[in-house]
Amino acid sequence: MQGGPGLPGVARMPRYQEPVFVLKKWDLGESDQLVSFLSSGRGKLRGIAKGAKRSKKRFGGLLSPFLLVQLECFENPSRELVRIEGCSLIHYYAPIYGDLEKLLVGCCALDFLERVLPEKGAQEDWFDLLRHFFECLGNTSTASCLLWVFFAKALCLLGLQPQFGKCIYCRRPLGRAGVFGFSVPHGGVVCGACIRRGTATHRAAWDTLLLLDRWVAVPMEEGVLAAEGTKRRVREAARILEAFLAYHVGRELRSLRVMREVQKKIGQR
Ligand SMILES: [Zn+2]
Repeated sequence: MQGGPGLPGVARMPRYQEPVFVLKKWDLGESDQLVSFLSSGRGKLRGIAKGAKRSKKRFGGLLSPFLLVQLECFENPSRELVRIEGCSLIHYYAPIYGDLEKLLVGCCALDFLERVLPEKGAQEDWFDLLRHFFECLGNTSTASCLLWVFFAKALCLLGLQPQFGKCIYCRRPLGRAGVFGFSVPHGGVVCGACIRRGTATHRAAWDTLLLLDRWVAVPMEEGVLAAEGTKRRVREAARILEAFLAYHVGRELRSLRVMREVQKKIGQR
């Protein structure tokens, strides 16, 4: 048991400190907050931060997105929620807070993780993915494109790895010429010869499928570089990934719609 020796026969709650990213939080009554967070070693958890809305000393406004914080928690095995006792700053992703598009993109990633990750089920890979995503988001000038690369990686971590390199029916690698499709329910590419089977939900150009294949295979920053100067391919790839996400998440991500509405208003595409 962590937290030092205990008295025999006295039930004690394991106490631990761990780096975490806050995914989402909700107000509970006048002064408490319910916080969903992704920790480095225990996956996604939810906890109660008593007095978080009032206590500047214990939490200091640090239970917020786009910060890497050290969280001090008590875990009661008989309860689902942990008790959050304190919080200290490890890293502040300042470039995200300073840019509206980056903020919107970051919120989409957090919304997605809060929605799809099982509690206490997700491990270190997800924490590393989110940390790397925040680092890339701070440095990139094409935040929207980075979000789609992130989603391509996340789908693979979920075990839903869509197949972009070869036809899901005949298993042949795609040639450069011809018509191609993508089947959302079957999670992969359909070649021109097999497209008459009628399961393709999207038409896709060869270079779009190649881009999606790259996004799955290479590190995030390289995925963004591979998309440079090809807005059409990114738009087509995003349509396919968004449909695939909606199919598996069960409904559209509200944060994606909010992002689009704001981008429209400020004249970005
Ligand atoms: Zn085929």
